[in-house]
Amino acid sequence: MGMGRGGKFLTEEEKQNRPKVTKKLLIRIFSYLRPYSTQLIVVLLCIIASSALNMAPAILTGRIIDDGLIGRDFGKLVFYIVMTLLVYAGANFIGVLQSYLNTWIAQHITYDMRNQMYRHLQSMSQRFFTSNNQGDIITRMTSDIDGVQQVIANTFSSILSNAITLVIALIAMLQKNWIMTLVSIVIVPLFTIPTRIAGKTRWELTRESQECSDEINGILNETLSVSGQTLVKLFSKEDYEYARYESANARMVKLNIKERMAGRWFFVILSTITSVGPMLLYLAGGILMIRYGADLTVGDITVLVALLGKLYGPVNQLLNIQVDWIRSMAMFTRIFEYFDMPVEVKNPVYPLVKKQARGDVEFLHVDFSYEPSRQILKDVTFRLRSGRSIAIVGPSGSGKSTIINLIPRLYDVTGGKVLFDGVDVRDLDLNFLRSSIGVVTQETYLFNGTIRENLLYVKPEATEEDLVTACKKANIYDFIKNQPEGFDAMVGNRGLKLSGGEKQRISIARVLLRDPALLIFDEATSALDSISESKIQEAINPLVKSCTSILIAHRLSTILAADEILVVKDGRIVERGVHEELVNKGGVYTELYETQFGVMHETDEKA
Ligand code: ATP
Repeated sequence: MGMGRGGKFLTEEEKQNRPKVTKKLLIRIFSYLRPYSTQLIVVLLCIIASSALNMAPAILTGRIIDDGLIGRDFGKLVFYIVMTLLVYAGANFIGVLQSYLNTWIAQHITYDMRNQMYRHLQSMSQRFFTSNNQGDIITRMTSDIDGVQQVIANTFSSILSNAITLVIALIAMLQKNWIMTLVSIVIVPLFTIPTRIAGKTRWELTRESQECSDEINGILNETLSVSGQTLVKLFSKEDYEYARYESANARMVKLNIKERMAGRWFFVILSTITSVGPMLLYLAGGILMIRYGADLTVGDITVLVALLGKLYGPVNQLLNIQVDWIRSMAMFTRIFEYFDMPVEVKNPVYPLVKKQARGDVEFLHVDFSYEPSRQILKDVTFRLRSGRSIAIVGPSGSGKSTIINLIPRLYDVTGGKVLFDGVDVRDLDLNFLRSSIGVVTQETYLFNGTIRENLLYVKPEATEEDLVTACKKANIYDFIKNQPEGFDAMVGNRGLKLSGGEKQRISIARVLLRDPALLIFDEATSALDSISESKIQEAINPLVKSCTSILIAHRLSTILAADEILVVKDGRIVERGVHEELVNKGGVYTELYETQFGVMHETDEKA
């Protein structure tokens, strides 16, 4: 039943970050259980019934001995034996029902939680995904929610059934003899405490050897991979890496031996004490019976010893559950932390939908920062009229991508306004806004499937003719036609079977398929070979001339195709105009032209 990083003891880190269990948190957790309250009541009844039935055989043993064996009554003997067997069968049957219901409830609750989490994560802004570690997001979605399932299926019912078993066992004992009950209560800690101490030592060793094995795996992963080996070889680090591996390996051997031996001690201690407990009880019973003539039968003492066995389990488990409990509360807290993150980019309360978008964009004194401490865009103002095109140029990191991210509301401005067709983008229906804009990003993302599937993802109802038209415009149709499978050719994982240029042209086709009112291109900075390059240019340049478009340009031919050039530096628009005006101005554009586009220009000409 180990949860998370397992073990029945808390790590230092877990102790320090112990979550505050407030009434609010508990109420919130129980709100997930509420829809299943009927099933929960049945589970509760099952737990009570099976705990009671589990206790019965111990009590019936007393009757078998006193009435059947000592009383020499064969009829009673058989009756009690059959009863005991029936009770066992009944308890087991109820146990199965209980675990089925438990699993069912746990699965359904986590089903609800997973869906809710997935929806919530999808509504999170770009900022959330850029500032959170992807692994962390996936962990919360998977392990943490799986942990919740464990808690509901195991921890909650384990607390209940152990507590009930404990109470019933104590009541049954008290009915036999209160002195013996007291003796039992004194004996139980004798047992549970050493078990816990031995367990803790062992757990610490396991954890240490786990760390050591992680370290060894790390070394292997780093040094036995292709790139790792290249590094090791080029810098002659073989001996150093060997020494590192050898010392971790030696530590592992020592730890493994220690752990094995701790395991031995653990069992020696456990089995000795397990046998001491009942002996003490027999002794106490004997003293009461023989010395003080107490009203106790042999059967009673047997029953008490059997019940003593029933006490250890629950006490031990309840002591362990504290750890599970703290871990589960931490898990719930982590999950709720995600649920509580505000949705930054929200659909407006009264979203505006227009019949037809024109693609007109206007920035009015826009300020923007990703983090409050550092302003990225300052007072950006420009207008892109429907049917025209703008090229944004500027040094790396000047804020070009940031400007275009604001149009489909991947982020919201921190000052000023972005208007789309004359309306503040924050007042428009998000779906309408985003479906009116087609964005071709630098990093093209294709999923593993056929070209057709990738294209249809954005417009499932597109006809073959639509596909052909879009691909022709994107200058990729000839390539597809030449594939033996045509549109049904596989693109490979993340589009790996295609060249960078092909991928980019397919993603242009994908955008064109939606026939957006505004086209946004983020031209790739990475150099492609000149043939791929010119094919993309052939696709983009006519589009820039014919569609409302805004593009981040790195190549002269694209820049020349646009109607206006905006030069961005340090988040401000520092120059604007057409190429001829800007190139001889001696400003940022001239510099860019001489260093970047100039070179590109030459390659353009060569191509
Ligand atoms: P490039 O031409 O290299 O793509 P760019 O002009 O498009 O650069 P942006 O990507 O807009 O530049 O980045 C502008 C600034 O904002 C950079 O300094 C960058 O470090 C910062 N920045 C970009 N994205 C984020 C983010 N998600 N969180 C914080 N800062 C960011």
